[in-house]
Amino acid sequence: MLPLGPWNCDYCGGTIKMKDGWLEYLTDEDHRSYGLKIFHHMEIGEPLGYCCSYQPNGRRRVGLPISSCNLVHFISHDGLTELLKIQKYDKLDADEVSLMIRRLHIPGYEQARPFFETAVREGIIHPPSTPGFFCQEDIQAVWSHYRIQNLNTLQQEQSP
Ligand SMILES: [Zn+2]
Repeated sequence: MLPLGPWNCDYCGGTIKMKDGWLEYLTDEDHRSYGLKIFHHMEIGEPLGYCCSYQPNGRRRVGLPISSCNLVHFISHDGLTELLKIQKYDKLDADEVSLMIRRLHIPGYEQARPFFETAVREGIIHPPSTPGFFCQEDIQAVWSHYRIQNLNTLQQEQSP
């Protein structure tokens, strides 16, 4: 089976390991939430001025309330329940939650995501009946054709 993650930071595009990843979103004056993103969490002691987040001191400061939590809370079955819960109670945009569920819970999806458009254009896979929703067979075909490496395995091999 293809791996879940690692994930790509929605700000800098860099790879995020589970322990460094956070999820955040904004809530407007009408209590509707949007802007669901995965980002590198700024560790205490990192230089100010660099922060992959909406947070104050970050590069994308905005004046709206932010909710954020470690990615680890959104993985596993309970994590899926948590995502659906915040969608309901924080009125989070359904399309954004749908994409986040695919990114966090569909094996191989996140690492294949940058290749989907090209793969359809090059005829490697058929266009999905609903844009953005790919079956495991198509995701596997994208991995094989573009020789996507399992970054999780690489990280394990490189650790001492
Ligand atoms: Zn980042």
